[in-house]
Amino acid sequence: MTTPTIELKPSASPLSDAERAAILANPGFGRHFTDHMVVIKWTEGRGWHDGQLVPYAPLSLDPATMVLHYAQEIFEGLKAYRQPDGTVATFRPEKNAQRFQASARRLGMPELPVETFIEACDALVKQDEAWVPAHGGEESLYLRPFMIATEVGLGVKPANEYLFLVIASPAGAYFPGGVKPVSIWVSEDHVRAVPGGMGDAKTGGNYAASLLAQAEAAEQGCAQVCYLDAVERKWVEELGGMNLYFVYGNKIVTPTLTGSILEGVTRDSLLQVARDLGYEAEEGRVSVDQWQTDSANGTLTEVFACGTAAVITPVGTVKRTGAEWTQGAGEPGEVTVKLRQALLDIQRGTAEDQHGWMHKLG
Ligand SMILES: *Cc1c(COP(=O)(O)O)cnc(C)c1O
Repeated sequence: MTTPTIELKPSASPLSDAERAAILANPGFGRHFTDHMVVIKWTEGRGWHDGQLVPYAPLSLDPATMVLHYAQEIFEGLKAYRQPDGTVATFRPEKNAQRFQASARRLGMPELPVETFIEACDALVKQDEAWVPAHGGEESLYLRPFMIATEVGLGVKPANEYLFLVIASPAGAYFPGGVKPVSIWVSEDHVRAVPGGMGDAKTGGNYAASLLAQAEAAEQGCAQVCYLDAVERKWVEELGGMNLYFVYGNKIVTPTLTGSILEGVTRDSLLQVARDLGYEAEEGRVSVDQWQTDSANGTLTEVFACGTAAVITPVGTVKRTGAEWTQGAGEPGEVTVKLRQALLDIQRGTAEDQHGWMHKLG
C-alpha cells in the first residue's frame, strides 16, 4: 500500500494574532480549535488517498452515513509541547499510531500506516504552530486524530469508505489552581467493557457506555467513575478515560491489561519513569476490597489516575455502595507529585529524554 502525501491547502483567513492570543489566554479543554485540519480518505480497492490539510470546517454527511448509526469510529489523543528552545515536539506519537491501528483492527476498519498518522499530526502542528502555547506552564496543543465510516447505507457490515481526520485544540493547565485530588465513585452496577468486547480499543462506543455511570457518580458527588471487571465485579480496571495506579510505599502497581482495559501511553510511560526514579513498578490485580482495606491500614499510601489530558491526577475520596474513604489526607501524595513532575519535565523538554520519546518537529 502506498503512503499518501498530504497536500497543503491552507486557509486564506486564519484567526488574527489578537483573536488567537485571546483564546490562548484561557483555552480550557476541547473548546477551541485551530485554523486547519487534516483529512485523508480510504476507499475499498483504492486504499488511502486524497490526503489534504484544509481550513477547519464542518463536515457534510448524508443522514444514512454508517458511523451515525453503527458507531464505527475510533480516535486518539496526544499532545504537542513547546520546548525551551521554542521548537515543538509531540510525545510518543508512534505509540498512538500503533494503538490507532489496533483499534482499527478491532472495529473492522482499515489500518492507517504509522508514518502517515505521524505525518498528518506533524503537518497540522507545523501549519498551526502559532497555536502551541508558550513554554513554561502545563499548556499544550491537544491533537485529536479520528476515523469514521463514511459509506452511506443502513446495512450492517464494515463500511467500504472511511475518513481519517486530525483536529487540534489548545489545552490549558488541567489544574490551573494547583494539583487537586479527584473523587471517585466505584460503580458496582455498570461496567465499561467486557472480555471479548472493545474495551482495549479507543472508540467512542466505550465512552457512550460510560455516560450513565458518570451521571450517577455526579449524583454521588464524585467527579469520576472507577469500573470493575465485568465478570466478578471485583477487580479494579480503570476510570472512564484514565488508567489507575496504586502506590504501596516505594512500589507502584497498575491493573494488568485484561483486554477490557485501554492500554494508556501515560500508563506505559509511568512504568518506565517510576523505574528510572528508583521505584518498583509492576502490573498486578487489585480488588476493590483490597483497595479499601489497604487504604484503611495505611499500606496503600497513594492512588492516582493517569492519561494524556491530565497527565496524573491524584485520587482523594473514594465512594462505593455502603462505604467511603479518603486516600492520604486528601492531599496529593509525594510519589504522585514526583512522577507527575518527572513526566511533565520530559514532555516540556526540561529533563533529558532518555528513552527517545519526544518527536521533534521541523
Ligand atoms: C485514552 C484513554 C486512556 C488514557 O490513555 P493515554 O494514552 O494515556 O492518554 C485510558 N483509558 C481510556 C478508556 C482511554 O480512552
